[in-house]
Amino acid sequence: MSLHVARELHNYVGGRFVPPQSGVFIEDVSPATGRVLSQVPRSGAADVHAAVRSARDAFESNWRWTPPLERAALLDRAADLLERHLDTLAAMESEDTGKPIALARAIDIPRAVHNFRFFAGAIRHDRTDCHEMAGALNYTIRRPLGVVALISPWNLPLYLLSWKVAPALACGNTVVAKPSELTPLTANALAEILHEVGLPDGVFNLVHGLGPEAGAALVSHPEVAAVSFTGGTATGASVAAAAAPSFKKLSLELGGKNPTVVFADADLEAAAQGAATAGFRNQGQICLCGSRVLVERDVIGPFTEALVERVNALKVGDPADPSTDLGALVSLAHRDKVEGYLKLAVEEGGTILCGGDRPRLPAPLDQGAFLRPAVIGGLPSTCRTATEEIFGPVVTVHPFDSEAEALAQANDVRYGLSASVWTRDLSRAHRFSAALETGMVWVNTWMMRDLRVPFGGMKDSGVGREGGAHSLEFFSEARNICVKL
Ligand code: NAD
Repeated sequence: MSLHVARELHNYVGGRFVPPQSGVFIEDVSPATGRVLSQVPRSGAADVHAAVRSARDAFESNWRWTPPLERAALLDRAADLLERHLDTLAAMESEDTGKPIALARAIDIPRAVHNFRFFAGAIRHDRTDCHEMAGALNYTIRRPLGVVALISPWNLPLYLLSWKVAPALACGNTVVAKPSELTPLTANALAEILHEVGLPDGVFNLVHGLGPEAGAALVSHPEVAAVSFTGGTATGASVAAAAAPSFKKLSLELGGKNPTVVFADADLEAAAQGAATAGFRNQGQICLCGSRVLVERDVIGPFTEALVERVNALKVGDPADPSTDLGALVSLAHRDKVEGYLKLAVEEGGTILCGGDRPRLPAPLDQGAFLRPAVIGGLPSTCRTATEEIFGPVVTVHPFDSEAEALAQANDVRYGLSASVWTRDLSRAHRFSAALETGMVWVNTWMMRDLRVPFGGMKDSGVGREGGAHSLEFFSEARNICVKL
């Protein structure tokens, strides 16, 4: 098979690529050049209904009873094909999102491959519990849920979609996926790959379209048993409200405003490098990005200098150039939003220590949503710039005087996704990490991922956990059978 970007994308329903019933399309635009990449179906409730019915039929007819080993073999074949097309998929992802090709090659696509291989292995080795009691034996069986709705965002399109599709299929569910309308290309490629590996018709369905239309119709559909959603916190709230009346199982991976906490005893060079990476990878558009850097006052001067030096050295430019560190933001509208926060930061009394302006790039990149990475000092840690999710290349730096104050600052936001802590004091690392109100903490590193560990947020950053056994538990119904002996 050869993967390419079709001028007109179609939905994938019941094993066939079909146009939206309305015949209406929206444009998918390259954020780096403004070029129209493809036309994307603007699907509505009728398209969603057709996809859900096809998923329901596939679930009932056979897929739910497919032996796990067969499902695992299909997932492995999908991983192999994704890997074979790594370069093509990386180029597609880079063009669609504006992210550097080097990042898509090193992280996005390899991780999608890994997700399929990992959950193939996980379902092969899966086991259930047995609880003996006086006079009886309990054993747990796990069964697939039925049709599951998977909704994914634009920042790591294939990476995050595959993180849901692989465990959902491994557990024997059928899927209706709705990728972000801003970055639909690799989801389409995934449908082609799953078709090619011989996944039965209707087991995986893909509906493109806008969130409030196709997305809303999917999460409220009465025949959808569960919703796994990754996206913004405000959207997550409306997804939860739509899913609640029919008691759908719900997993929400939402926004973050993650602290990078640097103690004076840390390796400051390593911490400055870590803060630069955590702040600006993928143009700061990763839910785990460390956008608030809290630094012990004694070292804030040299630390900030080291951070700014590293940030200034980052190369902003053509995503297709393998030496580019930061590409374009996902859209001009998103850059406007980020620039609005830069203006707010100055109004709130902050000083922009570097970046925050648009780089001068040659045509056609002069049409793109580029922004130089910004480090801002002089802001109170409680101001809007320092507490609201910006989701762009903007980091604020704040001093603290004690461990207690660092903890209070770190926890004083509505979000609770992740944190990174930089210190050489082992006791403090454990004590501080345990007291942080975040689902994940990294000590002296950032975003090191083991797919077995729980992934997810506290507070307004989400509900539930993904990863390893947590994903398998989410995508199945645990049932207990008690046999009197
Ligand atoms: P978004 O909430 O705008 O959209 C996410 C997805 O939801 C898209 O596919 C969109 O079409 C769909 N959607 C929008 N409205 C909907 C509705 N009413 N019903 C159903 N679906 C709807 O988010 P985004 O801008 O694409 O992504 C950025 C956000 O995602 C950031 O807040 C970021 O922190 C978050 N994010 C979180 C994680 C995590 O694991 N916690 C990972 C990546 C991104």
